[in-house]
Amino acid sequence: MMSVEEALGRILAEIQALPTTQVPLSEALGLVLAQDIIAQEDIPPFSNSAMDGFALLSQDSQPRAGQPPRLRVTGGVAAGYVADQAVTEGTAMRIMTGAPVPPGADTVIQVELTRSEGPQSEWVEIMQAVPLGNNIRPAGEDMQRGQIILLQGNEIGSWEIGVLATLGWANVLVTRRPHVAILGTGDEVIDVDEPLRPGKIRNSNSYLLEAAVHVAGAIPHRLGVARDTVESLREKFTEAIQYDLIITSGGVSVGDFDLVKDIMAEQGHVDFWRINMRPGKPVAFGSIGKVPLLGLPGNPVSAAVTFELFGRPIIRKMLGHTRLLRPQVDVEVIDGVDERVMRRHYVRAWVEWSDGRFVARTTGNQGSHITTSLLHANAFVIVPEGGVQIQPGGSAKAIMLTWPEV
Ligand code: AMP
Ligand code: MG
Repeated sequence: MMSVEEALGRILAEIQALPTTQVPLSEALGLVLAQDIIAQEDIPPFSNSAMDGFALLSQDSQPRAGQPPRLRVTGGVAAGYVADQAVTEGTAMRIMTGAPVPPGADTVIQVELTRSEGPQSEWVEIMQAVPLGNNIRPAGEDMQRGQIILLQGNEIGSWEIGVLATLGWANVLVTRRPHVAILGTGDEVIDVDEPLRPGKIRNSNSYLLEAAVHVAGAIPHRLGVARDTVESLREKFTEAIQYDLIITSGGVSVGDFDLVKDIMAEQGHVDFWRINMRPGKPVAFGSIGKVPLLGLPGNPVSAAVTFELFGRPIIRKMLGHTRLLRPQVDVEVIDGVDERVMRRHYVRAWVEWSDGRFVARTTGNQGSHITTSLLHANAFVIVPEGGVQIQPGGSAKAIMLTWPEV
């Protein structure tokens, strides 16, 4: 049986980042930059005041014979405007936060350190000496024209969007988002809005995978459920090949009606593996035509876990990410794992930070059909191959799926 690492390595070797495209800034969230971002201007573009106060010459703020100096106020400058005159010796101008520093002024004193007769006052007293450059944000202090600000390969989060907006990048070149076809298989599988009939179960996998694909950053296309016939699968795959990736669930095991592999062999190629993991032993990878196909097991927990381990990294690689895998932490497994499993076991668990360490509690029955074992889980505790048990309070590695809020 193949290890998870080997299977993942083989899969990722077949996957490339998708082509690049220009998107409006407001659609760039979560995408990966396909270009370096070089500042084409100084930011801030002009030196401006960090405070509401008065622009003056630093030397004019020195006390005279122990008395606060009194300066003549010649006008004011608000944010969004430029001063209509210069500040000269013995004078000051009222200035607001973000307003350009008037020519001649080398310092701003905040209003709290002055005394005057209010907004119309023709004079201001400077109650404290202020050093040169005080409260002035020089042009280019944040970013300088020509400076590299973000690199190709960086992920665009809300903060990056803010910086790109600051620099005036209304459109950015990114790796485009993958479109992913999601196909259920099985004569027993009916849609969620149909009443249950004898022998039938609802299609949970396609909905779970649709959501998981979306969370991973791709655009899901749910194509319904193929019957367990070659004709039905062929028809669905004809539709699926317009997308960048096909993800199926079910039909990849060794049963009489597990036909996905046959169609892959007919219309593309197939690598079928038994992976040394639980849940989710059988996984098929290959292609239909030129479109990569990841065939996940039908059992819902297996489909969910194998999507996390294989599907999500595929999507991230297509998106242009270089970091493809979730972080792992060392955990103390409060309740332990007593079941002995020869394959590597990905045990669903809730992990939180407590008293200076990560503690994990498993989610009960870990059967691959027990969908409730996925609920209230934010991590997979990894129990190594070979029938290992974890005693209550024992330690293990865990893959963090999300970090708990505190
Ligand atoms: P298979 O690999 O096709 O033999 O499916 C394995 C198990 O997963 C069977 O119990 C199926 O009924 C179940 N299963 C397959 N597809 C789905 C689906 N889309 N939603 C929920 N369960 C499924
Ligand atoms: Mg089936």
